[in-house]
Amino acid sequence: MHIINIPEITDVPVLGTDKRFPVRRIYCVGRNYIEHIKEMGGDVRKPPFFFQKPTDCIVQDGSQVKYPTLTSDFQFEIELVLAIGLGGNNIKVEDAARHVLGTAVGIDFTRRDLQIQARDAGRPWEIGKSFDQSAPIGGIKLLEGELPVTGEISLEVNGVTKQRGDLEQLIWNCAEIISKLSEQYELQPGDLIYTGTPAGVGPVVRGDHITGKVEGHPLLHIDIV
Ligand code: MN
Repeated sequence: MHIINIPEITDVPVLGTDKRFPVRRIYCVGRNYIEHIKEMGGDVRKPPFFFQKPTDCIVQDGSQVKYPTLTSDFQFEIELVLAIGLGGNNIKVEDAARHVLGTAVGIDFTRRDLQIQARDAGRPWEIGKSFDQSAPIGGIKLLEGELPVTGEISLEVNGVTKQRGDLEQLIWNCAEIISKLSEQYELQPGDLIYTGTPAGVGPVVRGDHITGKVEGHPLLHIDIV
């Protein structure tokens, strides 16, 4: 018996099935496209790194996201998301694909002003990255064959393109991300990995409609309220 109600399971639909993917952890890659590192004023020679968001940050496709507190610079980052179906430590690059159940379109929402304040003060990023409703995701498309290495990734706000890149611009590709991350943590089924964003990040305001796109996946729709 639990003394309070058990928190709801966070899960995501799996496209083409009546099943859902239960989410265990959300990992994110920082600094994984050179043009985005440049726009953030970073050093392109430094390697990518990982941070996490709480599981219940997930937002379903078609949802409304409340403009968050404490920020005046609430920004989108369109990202390809990997859904882990088979766990492991020290996964080899050549074995990575068989650990992936599927892929999805995601947005790494960021309170940019708070992230930069934290970064510049040498503090953790949680306040800028790991807050309620900060991880929209579309349905998971089951992986058939190899991990995606090319394909357009883009984001529109109110029908105007803000971000447009290609997965071939990833500094670390999907297989390398899984390999590196699995050196730090034992990956488990249910883990999601947001793989980083291309250039063009920017702010949204209440009333904006965001459309996220990764080639081969359905569009992701989010409204800011
Ligand atoms: Mn990101």
